[in-house]
Order: sequence, then C-alpha cells, then structure tokens
Amino acid sequence: TWSAVPAGPPDPILGVTEAFKADKDPRKINLGVGAYRDENGKPYVLTSVQKAEELVAASKPDKEYLPITGLAEFTKNAAKLAYGAESAPLKQGAIAVTQSISGTGALRIGGAFIGRHYPKAKVIYLPTPSWGNHTPIFRDSGLEVRGYRYFDKSTVGLDFEGMKADLKAAPEHSIVLLHACAHNPTGIDPTHAQWKEISDLVKEKNLFPFFDMAYQGFATGSISNDAFAVRHFVAEGHQVALAQSFAKNMGLYGERVGAFSLVTADPEEKARVDSQLKIVIRPMYSNPPLHGARIANAILSDAALYAEWETEVKSMADRIISMRETLYNTLTHDLKTPGEWGHIKSQIGMFSFTGLTAPQTKALAEKAHVYMTADGRISMAGLNSKNIEHFATSVDAAVRG
Ligand code: PMP
Repeated sequence: TWSAVPAGPPDPILGVTEAFKADKDPRKINLGVGAYRDENGKPYVLTSVQKAEELVAASKPDKEYLPITGLAEFTKNAAKLAYGAESAPLKQGAIAVTQSISGTGALRIGGAFIGRHYPKAKVIYLPTPSWGNHTPIFRDSGLEVRGYRYFDKSTVGLDFEGMKADLKAAPEHSIVLLHACAHNPTGIDPTHAQWKEISDLVKEKNLFPFFDMAYQGFATGSISNDAFAVRHFVAEGHQVALAQSFAKNMGLYGERVGAFSLVTADPEEKARVDSQLKIVIRPMYSNPPLHGARIANAILSDAALYAEWETEVKSMADRIISMRETLYNTLTHDLKTPGEWGHIKSQIGMFSFTGLTAPQTKALAEKAHVYMTADGRISMAGLNSKNIEHFATSVDAAVRG
C-alpha cells in the first residue's frame, strides 16, 4: 500500500539531538534544542510550577473534557498576560481566545482560521529566516508562504531597510508574521522605535499582523517589556492575531499549553469569531488537554505564585544573559578569536546566531563533540559555567580552521 511513499528528510533540529545522543565523549555539548537547561545542564522544573501542581492535585479535580476552546479561566488570564490588564479590547470583551496545543497548535489554528475566514489574502510573509516549523504550518493551513528580509549577514543584525522595503512591496492585506520578542533563530529584535515604524507601515499598507509570542519574559526577563510590540500594535488599533506558548516561560514544554487569540471589533463580532474557532478546532482534536492549563492557570491566578514565577523567568533570562557575557569575553579578550563577536552579547532570548558556517559547525561536532544546527544557531541555555570554556576554545579552533 505504501510502496510509493518516499522517505522524508529527518527534522533538522531533532537530528542534532540524535547525533548528540550517539556521541559518547563526556565533553559533548548539545546546543541544538531550544529548551532551557540549568547551571548543571539539566532540564529545569520551575518551583512555581511544582507548587501550582501541588495546588491542582490538592483540589482533586475531575478528568472531564474541557470545552472546545479550553479552560476559560486560563484563556482569560493568558490574554491578560499578553495584552495587559489595561488593554482596551480586552476590557471591552472584544478579544476571542482559545486554548491551544502550545504555540505550534496556536499557529495552526490561526492558519486554519485565516485560511477559511480571511477572504482578502491567502499570502503570509515570514521573516527570513524564521522558526523552521512556520513554513510547513502555514503551508499545511492552505496559505502561500513568502519571505521578508530580516537578517543581515554582513552586520549579523536586523536588515531593517530590507524588511521595510519588502513589507511595502507586499500586496495589500497580506498577512505578516512577526516574532513578538526573542526572534528565533537569530536572537535579533527590532527596537521599540523600529516596532513603531513597523506598526505604521503595517497600518499604511493594510497588512494583517500575526504575532508569534513563544518567549514572553525570556527576552528581557520582564513580562511587560517583552509584550511591547503586541501591546503597541493593539494600542494603535491593529486587530492582531496572536499565538502564545507557555513552553519556555513556564518550562511546560511537554504539557503543551498555549493560546490563540484574535482582536475583533466588538463583543458581538467576538462571539461570531468564537463560534467559528470552535468549528475549526472540533474536527482537529475536539478539545485541549487539561493538566498543563490547570498548572498555568494556578500560577496566573494567584498573586504570590505569579510573583514567584516572574522571578524565576527573570532568573532564567539572566542566566542566559550572563552566558552571553562570558562567551563574548572569552572569545574576544581571552582567546582573541578572529572576527567580531559583539552580536553574541546584543542578541536576545534563548538563541544566538553565531555566524559560524555549515563546515565550521560540522567540524565542531566531529572534532569537539559540540552540536548545533547547521545554520550556526546555538541555544544559549545549553551553556553553563562548566562547559563554556570547552565551547569557546572549540569555536576558536573551528574559526581558525
Ligand atoms: N514559535 C517559535 C518562534 C518557537 O521558537 C517555538 C518553539 N520552538 C514555537 C513557536 C512553538 O513551540 P511550542 O509548540 O512548543 O509551544
């Protein structure tokens, strides 16, 4: 039956983990996967999450199905976290929101909803480069995927002029995907002033902004700072789409907790959009999982737990920032590695686009047992005080060839 099915290519990121697992050298380092690791290189379950889990367990909840759009209290709190308690459409009851299977599921619901109900355009513009899953998610949603310039190789920074030119040239009403903060894979975000310009341009060209916020709190360590772009756009009157993930900021990766929302014109429009979100979701997976949403909601709805969580998010962000400092100093001052490494410090969030070439990343894996994706992206969270020396000297050797 399946004799004509061709073998597909392996996933580029999960392939890195496979190679890492097969390596028996004790110095090996995995910088491929985008999951936070603590100072000992171990997965980290947040204390606030552990406490929330205890609260949930103590309440002895049932295991009944959730409604199609999920745990209502959770989605209300998730929207408040993203848009801010003072958001006008939130206060007005004009934001349609549904629970989702983490950020991926939120993007997929958004793609499907837009594909069905947004008649003005079927084209979505993604930054070049973007998270590798964006293209298949939106392609499988029936949209045509195009790119806008984002990364400038020569400066290892934002190609702001190229980005603006490409958005200006996009057909009216096109959908434009924006990483709300901590752009993956480059670690390069627009400044607040640049976001304001982007907002004006999106308005002028009648583009439809779709935010992917997978790292709220992880970029600067501040929940509200990291929501700047989303909140600015909404304050400027944009009716945005938003995909939220709690994988990184609550460390709930495998629990699959997320939300998808659409800002609508008014509560009546919201009610119609809600009804159609249900019709999109029902045949996909009926209703979302319970446990993770209960944990996230326990944190978001309790002032003391929320404060503890915010501190923990900040400590994860701070550890990453300190690894950036150490790596920069080691390469630039101690090893005098050829090249300019300022971007390691200026980039934001979990990832850094090192500028290492595909042959250099290959040499790092083969000679130094250091694993990263072939585009030279590293997960800063995989570095710690015990392995950073080995990493820096290996990069130095790879660069010197
Ligand atoms: N968007 C971006 C930009 C991401 O980096 C990720 C995670 N790698 C996601 C969405 C979705 O992840 P998840 O489905 O685990 O929430």
